[in-house]
Amino acid sequence: MDLMDIKTKDLVQKYNFKFSKSLGQNFLLDESVLSDIVEGADVNEKDFIIEIGPGVGTLTAKLLQKAKKVTCIELDNDLIPILQQELGEYDKFQLIHNDALKVNFNEIMKDEDHVKLVANLPYYVTTPIIIKLLKGNYKFQSLTIMIQKEVAERINAKPNCKEYGALSVLVQYYCDTTIIRKVSPESFMPRPKVDSIVIRLDRLSAPRVKVKDEKLLFDIVRAGFNMRRKTLWNSAKLTGISKENLQKAFDHCNIDPKRRAETLTIEEFAALSDSIYDVKKNN
Ligand code: SAM
Repeated sequence: MDLMDIKTKDLVQKYNFKFSKSLGQNFLLDESVLSDIVEGADVNEKDFIIEIGPGVGTLTAKLLQKAKKVTCIELDNDLIPILQQELGEYDKFQLIHNDALKVNFNEIMKDEDHVKLVANLPYYVTTPIIIKLLKGNYKFQSLTIMIQKEVAERINAKPNCKEYGALSVLVQYYCDTTIIRKVSPESFMPRPKVDSIVIRLDRLSAPRVKVKDEKLLFDIVRAGFNMRRKTLWNSAKLTGISKENLQKAFDHCNIDPKRRAETLTIEEFAALSDSIYDVKKNN
């Protein structure tokens, strides 16, 4: 099949494909969105692309036109023969039948440089997949994904707005974030109930801030946002530190304990985390 001829509606009809709600199957119809994803991901002939959830291969076909290699990970048994039939003849296409949450991405990336991930993600696994990829220390350059609008807004949020939370801090600790475009439900079949956004996460060569104890940083971030309406003082107490030492830690990093987590930049979270670390270590 010519890559230009891969069209979602035609293939769904040809194979009498039945959509699975539980696998988050909303396939893209809109050509302009497909092109914007490929352009937004800045795909070129040097790139080794990993696509999570190719569906019937509509986005895959566009990626194959530009990239050096495209490896797809698809969970649905029914889509495997369709993808093999439609795209199997292309040497640069590789298909892995597995759950993206279970695969070892290092085995897929091997020694490849220029690794980029691109996906119209099944919404039910968006956050676990992002966390797996970011915390897994994999050496990809960027992750360009279509996700639910509200999740993209949380990922992209800056301090002092209601969307800013633990996910914003986690993603921005590892990546720069760029919103590529909004996508309305009419661009899919079947139509989802929510609006979507295509967002690119560019992995930084090192985390945005250097901290003495990464786990402590994320414990403090989580505790702070779990009790959004409470002061930092109240949430930091959960790290098991005495009142006296907590006061010392806040004094040392010069952060007002009456502030709330949603007002802190990542740099301030890091400073607070390192102060708590030091006070704990010296006692
Ligand atoms: N890329 C296609 C498109 O844009 O039209 C399909 C996108 S659809 C939103 C999500 C795809 O991810 C489906 O093909 C679904 O079967 C697949 N999928 C769902 N859960 C998965 C998982 N855990 N691992 C890999 N693929 C998964």
